[in-house]
Amino acid sequence: MRIVDIREKSVPVASAMRNAAFDFSEMTTSVVAVVTDVVRAGKPVVGYAFNSTGRYACGASMRARFIPRLLSASPDTLCDDKGTLDPEKALSVMQKREKPGGDAERSVPIGTIETAIWDALAKVLERPLWHLLAERYAPGHALKKVPCYVGGGWYQPGGGIASLQDEIKTRLADGYTQMKIKVGGAAIPDDLKRIEAALTLMGSAKNLAVDANAAFARDTAFAYAKALAPYGLRWFEEPCPPHDYKLFAELAAAYAPALATGENLYCLPDVENLLCFGGFRHDRDILQVDPPQAYGIATYARLVDLVESAGGSRNAIFPHGGNMMSFALVAGLGLGGCEAYPGVFGAFAGFADGMRVESGFIDVPDHPGIGFEAQSALYATMKELVDA
Ligand code: MG
Repeated sequence: MRIVDIREKSVPVASAMRNAAFDFSEMTTSVVAVVTDVVRAGKPVVGYAFNSTGRYACGASMRARFIPRLLSASPDTLCDDKGTLDPEKALSVMQKREKPGGDAERSVPIGTIETAIWDALAKVLERPLWHLLAERYAPGHALKKVPCYVGGGWYQPGGGIASLQDEIKTRLADGYTQMKIKVGGAAIPDDLKRIEAALTLMGSAKNLAVDANAAFARDTAFAYAKALAPYGLRWFEEPCPPHDYKLFAELAAAYAPALATGENLYCLPDVENLLCFGGFRHDRDILQVDPPQAYGIATYARLVDLVESAGGSRNAIFPHGGNMMSFALVAGLGLGGCEAYPGVFGAFAGFADGMRVESGFIDVPDHPGIGFEAQSALYATMKELVDA
């Protein structure tokens, strides 16, 4: 089994939304296709991935370094002893001649390509990716139903309390039971009104989380922590800059309910630093590293080991990115849950057609690979890479 070509393109994820830190008007993502020499029904098996949401497309470094390294590697450096592609070996090949540190510069392109290789491998083996991951990394942990909360409550042009409540009602009617809304894009009193309006619909504070998107400096972070604490929300996400472990630890010491962070950590040492120096509380706090943005799937399995060896639980891990890639990891490794962004990031939001949330859970499907072929709007974009 060989990789015969790797193609990528940048696709806009244009959106009118903003959070406390930035807007999405220029946002793009890289879509990747890994073409193998395995032929099924007259066509090569192709693995797909995209670099999730919130980080711009990264095709330049893919074209300059990571794709050429894979395409010029000898088969034995990419395959196991049976001649089958080994994504962990591909990961090592892509990381050759890379200076230690500065991981965010390469973790997204490498992780996206690595994820597409897993998709290709699972399809060659004619198995769902979640099933393959459970077998390799987490025997006994696979889920039949994945807990899924919906991320929303963005600051939208012209949006107010009424439109926030309409959004929440729609999501509850869709079958979600837990929701996360933005904070920090308005003054604290206005954000508290949004939270109180949301709580009137969510039933319990345990069903509502808030996300500050790492926008707060120290004083604002503590002001929000003080204002939010009495509500006892499900979690308070990214209350401070992602690498300010000292401030996160101080907030964890001052704020009793759960904190969440990790979507802007890009390698295992980042996570280790959070666990060692960030005051991360294993009995309540939530870790949200994004799989394709942090070196991909094999690294994520090691991340779970890292958390458990530090005394934490896989149930505290909720991967960032409401998409089929995160879903497969949650289902296969038995993680805490998945997020969903229905209707927010165009074709890049949501799951395969027909996957419905019911009472806060989504049944795990059995599509081969990640399942992008069953996500028709997104697959149409991905397929252009091989049809071109
Ligand atoms: Mg977030």
